[in-house]
Amino acid sequence: MTINLESAAVALRDNLTAAEVAIKAAQDALATMVETPTITPPPSIRRGYAAPVGNVSRRNDIWPGDWIEVTGYNTVYNYGHHTGADLNLNEPWWDADRHRPVYSIADGEIYAIRTGVSGWGTVICIRHADCLSRYAHCENISKRQGESVGLRDYLGNIGNASGRWAYHLHFDIARLDARMLDYPLDWPGRAHNAKERVERDYYDPALFLRGVIE
Ligand SMILES: [Zn+2]
Repeated sequence: MTINLESAAVALRDNLTAAEVAIKAAQDALATMVETPTITPPPSIRRGYAAPVGNVSRRNDIWPGDWIEVTGYNTVYNYGHHTGADLNLNEPWWDADRHRPVYSIADGEIYAIRTGVSGWGTVICIRHADCLSRYAHCENISKRQGESVGLRDYLGNIGNASGRWAYHLHFDIARLDARMLDYPLDWPGRAHNAKERVERDYYDPALFLRGVIE
């Protein structure tokens, strides 16, 4: 077999060039990956969940449309540490959210309903697969204790606890083993360990619904 050294050299050089091009392309790709990490943004809402208020077309937003969180999770105010989110419609007239519907955030079972409680009005608590949810200052409750509910089921309307507050929904999401399971009106309030209690038992509802909290 005769080897043409010149054409062998050319082939070798071409292969080396191809290898260099491939290495350069790999380096460029690596640099791109480092500069722009391929992190998939979280979905707008946790799978199987929806917002407790707002139009059905915006149910996957946190918070839907013009709804805003006026008192946030673990905010310290007159009544101690806030366990969840106070939701209001951000519209330029008083109590725009009066009697607006409230919905179950996921499939679950209603484990407690309390009506006419001072400061609370009517309260509904639901046990879901991976959390508890609580809806306070409600009116016109259409459900019963022990009843199963589905994602986005209508529960009742936003009230004001017999005039105690401006109309708004007080909305909590708690751990499955939270004290709220046995004490539906659980409220750490001003207790010396209230901050730790809220952090242990309650999730930030916005972060939970965004899927940021596993
Ligand atoms: Zn509140």
